[in-house]
Amino acid sequence: MSTQCDVAIIGGGPVGASLALALRDSGLNVCVLESRPAGTASSDARALALSYGSRLLLERLKVWDALQDVSAIRTIHISQKQSFGHTVLHAEELEVPELGYVLPYPALQDALIAALQHSDVASIYGASVTCLLGETDHAVIGYQHDGIEHTLLASLAVVADGGKLLAEQYPPKVHDYGQSALITHITCSLPKLNTAFERFTPQGPLALLPFKAGYELVWTAPHQRAQEMLTWDDAGFLHELQSHFGDRVGEFLSVGKRTIFPLGLRRAPQQTPMPHTVLLGNAAQTMHPVAGQGFNMGLRDAWELALEILDAKPEEIGTEAMLAAYRSDRRTDREMGIRFTDGLVRLFSNDLPLVSVGRAAALTALDCLPFVKRFVAKRMMFGANG
Ligand SMILES: Cc1cc2nc3c(=O)[nH]c(=O)nc-3n(C[C@H](O)[C@H](O)[C@H](O)COP(=O)(O)OP(=O)(O)OC[C@H]3O[C@@H](n4cnc5c(N)ncnc54)[C@H](O)[C@@H]3O)c2cc1C
Repeated sequence: MSTQCDVAIIGGGPVGASLALALRDSGLNVCVLESRPAGTASSDARALALSYGSRLLLERLKVWDALQDVSAIRTIHISQKQSFGHTVLHAEELEVPELGYVLPYPALQDALIAALQHSDVASIYGASVTCLLGETDHAVIGYQHDGIEHTLLASLAVVADGGKLLAEQYPPKVHDYGQSALITHITCSLPKLNTAFERFTPQGPLALLPFKAGYELVWTAPHQRAQEMLTWDDAGFLHELQSHFGDRVGEFLSVGKRTIFPLGLRRAPQQTPMPHTVLLGNAAQTMHPVAGQGFNMGLRDAWELALEILDAKPEEIGTEAMLAAYRSDRRTDREMGIRFTDGLVRLFSNDLPLVSVGRAAALTALDCLPFVKRFVAKRMMFGANG
């Protein structure tokens, strides 16, 4: 392995791997450093809702057709508990074949890794990056592999590690929503084909994402309550879910293994904190999953960074001019995505009576105003840059 490269990607998660694929066959020397050992399947339990825009990008990366176990979303039903207002989005009215897709995180990860294995990108598994310095001419990356310390110089270091490596040096702005997400698979007596449900309740949002014959459930609750929900027996859990969600999909019949994730908004103060360095995906912004925007935005980060890199001459890669162009490309989409997601959580996670009436009116108005609905849905599918 050479000790110099054009682009070093720290973290081969879904966002880092997508960037690597966007750069394959470019003639650039690209290296991915991933701390997970080779051949270990991801055990991450979360399901991801991908937007139609992400499908188009994954098609360009030649990964879409290899994805196993994808269920389509053609209708999204949005409502709030104990209130009259609701909105329904249909794929046809937005002139797209599907609004989005649901698949397990490991299925996406496996397809990306398989595509990388057949590419000219050098992927090093079991390589844990321990330090990163941005110097005048390049970034210096220190990592451990097989118990040995290595150093790699890169024109551009892309930090796509989920957000730990530089957190101490450049502390992110953090907002703790005081909520965790409980995720699991459920089945019910009357599943609605290709229909996702987003229900806002005072304890937090609840989403049912259609997957195979049932639904992937994302149920947010205050941390303590979410811990308790892990301990309920299946019958008690299904009973509580029924009273929380209602009977739109009939009776809830079974529940799979339950896992919880603490939620917060975490944003790095700068996307390019030091010379020859850029943060990507969750390392740049970690959002509440309420609007299913995290990976979708990370993928757009990766795509637009790849375009900047491919547009640059080799000696321009990682320069301040290139990084400034990337920051400018991503500013609006990033800001709008963070504000939209954060606003939804804050607006809908309380039970103030006046606010509740206003929200119901807003959901009804959204349902009656096709052009506003179109605007919001297109933002969610394609981001602010279109
Ligand atoms: C409950 C839940 C539901 C979600 N639902 C959705 C959804 O429906 N739609 C959506 O778009 N998003 C969703 N998200 C967000 C989505 O999961 C993330 O945005 C996405 O996983 C970010 O990918 P990433 O590659 O940036 O980071 P990660 O997935 O965290 O990957 C980081 C990678 O870096 C590696 N790594 C870490 N440290 C090092 C190191 N020091 N050296 C080398 N490698 C390292 C890790 O092993 C890992 O492989 C959800 C999140 C949660 C918690």
